[in-house]
Amino acid sequence: MDNRNSIQIIKSERLNMGGTIVKQPLPHPQLQQASPFLLLHHFGPDKVAPGHDPLGVGPHPHRGFEPVTFLYSGGIEHKDSRGNVGQLTGGDVQWMTAGLGIIHSEMASAKFLAEGGTMEGIQLWVNLRKQDKMTQPDYQDIKSEQIPTAMSEDGAIQVRVVAGTWRELTGPAHTFTPIQAIQLFAQQDGTVDIETPTDHQVIVYVLNGEISLNSGTVVGNESLVRMDQSGERTILQLKEGSRVLYLAGAIIDEPVAQWGPYVMNTQTEIMEAMRDYQMGKMGVYIP
Ligand code: MN
Repeated sequence: MDNRNSIQIIKSERLNMGGTIVKQPLPHPQLQQASPFLLLHHFGPDKVAPGHDPLGVGPHPHRGFEPVTFLYSGGIEHKDSRGNVGQLTGGDVQWMTAGLGIIHSEMASAKFLAEGGTMEGIQLWVNLRKQDKMTQPDYQDIKSEQIPTAMSEDGAIQVRVVAGTWRELTGPAHTFTPIQAIQLFAQQDGTVDIETPTDHQVIVYVLNGEISLNSGTVVGNESLVRMDQSGERTILQLKEGSRVLYLAGAIIDEPVAQWGPYVMNTQTEIMEAMRDYQMGKMGVYIP
């Protein structure tokens, strides 16, 4: 089996969103997209006092893709225009399908506001094919304990499979196109390898710590690595304490038209999304 090699390392830009620093390696001036992945935001870790919401986002629409939240610590409550309400705490994942349109809010949970604590997570935007963009909206609230976990062969790295497979594990998330989303936590220095079909995209985000790939390229914190398609296997060596999100997926070879919270194939479809939102066709959000 052949190994993949790194072809691009992107150090996140740091955005100040209302006083909270968000790390953004994708999109980036050097990497517009890594199909099927459109955007990656790493927020926190922010230690906040009771009464503060470090990144609350009020009601806003989405259409045409899947916003996914990996909450590493803290508490978030989401509400939407279809009457869904859900809670996430550390370790949970919310896999949302915006599909034809939904309006939702993402705020600190009541418990987090009361007690304060550390908020940290990743929001990832996964594109949908043209044929799936206008599907019915859906939520998958995946609790931490539903996510299968195993250790690397050397016993050093905890592997959590949110979507797709690793070894005998299969993640609980349903996806429209093949996706692997795998969280790595190095309890000591160690090595793990992950296999993905050669024609899929592979990106690796380092939340903190330091990793090296195929015993070569060294990648530090808050950086994203894009791998080539020279093989199925990526070998990751993690320093103790490092945390990594491994993302892979079938490439969607279609034009991307994006404006704010909408990701479609053409500018006309973007205009339709704006009109449909204004006409209330994405539902009504009741606080
Ligand atoms: Mn949103």
